[in-house]
Amino acid sequence: MAGVIESLGDGLHRIRLPLPWKGLDHAWSYALEGEPGWTLVDAGLGTAENLAAWRQALAALGDPPIARLVISHYHTDHIGGSRDLAALTGADVLMSPTDATQARHWHDPDAVAASRRHQEQHGCPPEVVEAVFDAWAELVTNVHPAAPTRLIDDGDVLVAAGETWRVVSVPGHADGQIALFGTRSRRLLVADAMLDRIAPFVGVHPVSRPDPLGDQFATLDRLCRLGAEVAHAGHFEPIADIGARAAEIRAHHAERLAAQRSALAAGSADAYTVSVRITGDRLGPNARRIAVVETLAHLVHLERRGEISQRVEAGGRVVFSL
Ligand SMILES: [Zn+2]
Repeated sequence: MAGVIESLGDGLHRIRLPLPWKGLDHAWSYALEGEPGWTLVDAGLGTAENLAAWRQALAALGDPPIARLVISHYHTDHIGGSRDLAALTGADVLMSPTDATQARHWHDPDAVAASRRHQEQHGCPPEVVEAVFDAWAELVTNVHPAAPTRLIDDGDVLVAAGETWRVVSVPGHADGQIALFGTRSRRLLVADAMLDRIAPFVGVHPVSRPDPLGDQFATLDRLCRLGAEVAHAGHFEPIADIGARAAEIRAHHAERLAAQRSALAAGSADAYTVSVRITGDRLGPNARRIAVVETLAHLVHLERRGEISQRVEAGGRVVFSL
């Protein structure tokens, strides 16, 4: 496992953590040097391989004292190993209040029932609804979230790697996602608010802010205004031209919004049916479950823009119309 860490210069190191997923085999965490202790950003998924990568990375860094672990957002590949890593290092665990609540929600057994009901309301057939169980099984096995010891949010500051890092709220991909902006070097640790190769996933879950895609658009605007010189993300390569990448992600969503309007031109439909009209019926149950919550994020955004409407049928099914 050579090359698990890489120095990015000026007190910042990037750590490659393994993900056992088709199509996404790594997550990046970051280590910032500091006195009296270093700062880590994100923990990876809570697998044995992830913990082994951390042991190797910390040894390669000279086993520095770790003062704190910042969790950028509550998703499994960022928070999953946080309890193990906090136990290994004795670090304080910092996250936003919103995502501290989200992390608790997703580990509550009631969340399974809420997700199943959510999928049913949006028209999913039984095999897709059942896929929620598989996702839950992965969640309980590989996700061990640490309880935060300190809550941080927009405008808070941390000192690390010889400069002040401002906490920037960047909701959309996750409701309570935060980024860190180095005020001297103008480096941005952007987590999954902006990614190089894919548009960050945006979905509507049983417990979500009302318009996550609207949040994502506002976040892209905000990231452009920060004046960062480079964005280091949770996956893929660093982003040098933040304005250009933001434009590409906006264009991707504009295309998706147009496709959904066209899909609804064929007649009123629930989110599942719209998703099938756009992607065909070739997705497996778990991929479909994810496609439906992503479709829903676009539908809800069109509704908030006044371009489509939604009604709830007597049985609870939610139907969208042009
Ligand atoms: Zn991620």
